[in-house]
Amino acid sequence: MAEPVKFRNYVGGKWVDAGTGKTFPNRNPADLDDVVGEFPASAPEDVDRAVAAAKKAYDGWRRTPAPKRGEIVYRAGQVLLDRKEEIARAMTREMGKVLKETRGDVQEGIDTAFVHAGEGRRLHGFTAPSELPNKAGWAVRAPVGVAGLVTPWNFPLAIPTWKSFPALVAGNTVVIKPASDTPHCVNLLAEVLEKAGIPPGVFNVVHGGGGTVGTAIVKHPDTRVISFTGSSEVGRGIAETCGSMLKRVSLELGGKNAQIVMDDADLDLALEGALWGAFGTTGQRCTATSRLIVHRRVKDELVGRVLERAKKLRLGSGLDEKNEVGPLINKDQVGKVHECVEIGKKEGAKLLCGGEPASDGALAKGCFYKPTIFDGVTPEMRVAREEIFGPVLSVLTCKDLEDAVRILNATEYGLSSSIYTRDVNNAFYAMQEIESGIVYVNAPTIGAECHFPFGGVKRTGNGHREGAHPIYDVFTEWKTVYVDYSGRLQKAQIDNQ
Ligand code: NAD
Repeated sequence: MAEPVKFRNYVGGKWVDAGTGKTFPNRNPADLDDVVGEFPASAPEDVDRAVAAAKKAYDGWRRTPAPKRGEIVYRAGQVLLDRKEEIARAMTREMGKVLKETRGDVQEGIDTAFVHAGEGRRLHGFTAPSELPNKAGWAVRAPVGVAGLVTPWNFPLAIPTWKSFPALVAGNTVVIKPASDTPHCVNLLAEVLEKAGIPPGVFNVVHGGGGTVGTAIVKHPDTRVISFTGSSEVGRGIAETCGSMLKRVSLELGGKNAQIVMDDADLDLALEGALWGAFGTTGQRCTATSRLIVHRRVKDELVGRVLERAKKLRLGSGLDEKNEVGPLINKDQVGKVHECVEIGKKEGAKLLCGGEPASDGALAKGCFYKPTIFDGVTPEMRVAREEIFGPVLSVLTCKDLEDAVRILNATEYGLSSSIYTRDVNNAFYAMQEIESGIVYVNAPTIGAECHFPFGGVKRTGNGHREGAHPIYDVFTEWKTVYVDYSGRLQKAQIDNQ
């Protein structure tokens, strides 16, 4: 067997091994015998070197005009476009989701590049009239410093671009640690940025575990802003550390998203939405449809149709275009999903299909789990409240719209929600009453676009948003400037009485 390819960290514009000399394997979750490569198992000292490189590059980068920073990000978008198919294939190999989805993931990176390249020429501040004569005031956005970025494995390229492109356009330098299940895509992103002309030290990659490398980035006194996407448990710990250090932190965390289907809905549409929302990306999206809340008058019909289609979904390697559902990310995740299913069964939910790992033939080599549907779920059950992050759909029955919204809101999370209805009054009531950062009408809970705010309420985050312009509230500081050209001491609040 050929030696696995050895990958490196990217620090100060150079590809370097971890100081530890140690590595960890990155495996294809559809076939665990397939090793994508060995990646550096870095230590806190590697983070120190990366942060030092980012700090050194910071003054040069923040003084580079924002439109020029934006041009580099624009070129990165063009390189991503040129390499789209190659990166999508690499992503499917290391992460598992099917090719049409990994092409979408790269496309999101391209779109993000083009959105934020444009922001380089906007980055609007504002002016307001002064309360005093011959005095002017305005506020501009200034970069924060070295940004520490920690990302999950489910969007191996899109999420790193969501964070790093606006961070860079705003004038910050970056140290990023991708999830150790999907390190390759961020190395490809570093190659892309290098080709686009990013100066050495402006974008740095350190691979390794969350508890070592992730913690070291979060705790480093020179990372001035932390942007984290991942689980609520880890996010809470990061928030505590950042709180004690008075460090800015943006958290994008878990979800327990629901699709409501009213009795006036177009059931064909609701069916397609539920299937795509629940089983797309094998249910491993923070916005995945985990609960289907259906009006009792149409419940049997809709659930019967969802079940029939779910049973026919074709599982297998995402590299084979005929397959519809790829593997879970790793064996641990198979165990976690299965544990949730066992809990659901014990709580009295009725298992309609799936409920076990899939291991027929070639599937035995990977981390596959059968699309699973529970009926008869009640809002109190854990399968209705806790994030599962796998292909498991819980069906809850509602008696009217108020009941549906009450059930939808009865979780600690609040990321994405959807309602299928043909009644405009129902739709507006839902838009108003649903507690989540994203609400869809007649569309599934997944499908966010990168130029709208993205994020959630309650346990899903700490009030920040990614995507679009609001992310500049994470990656910039407001600097207010006053110019007094009166030639005399003017006292605000006192001289204008
Ligand atoms: P995770 O929290 O286990 O890991 C996320 C990242 O944090 C990884 O890079 C990991 O190595 C690192 N990490 C782990 N422990 C750490 C620590 N103590 N300090 C610093 N870093 C640490 O999450 P995951 O399993 O990779 O991703 C799945 C979770 O992410 C789900 O809960 C999902 O809902 C959430 N997610 C949220 C969004 C969103 O935008 N809201 C998007 C995608 C995924």
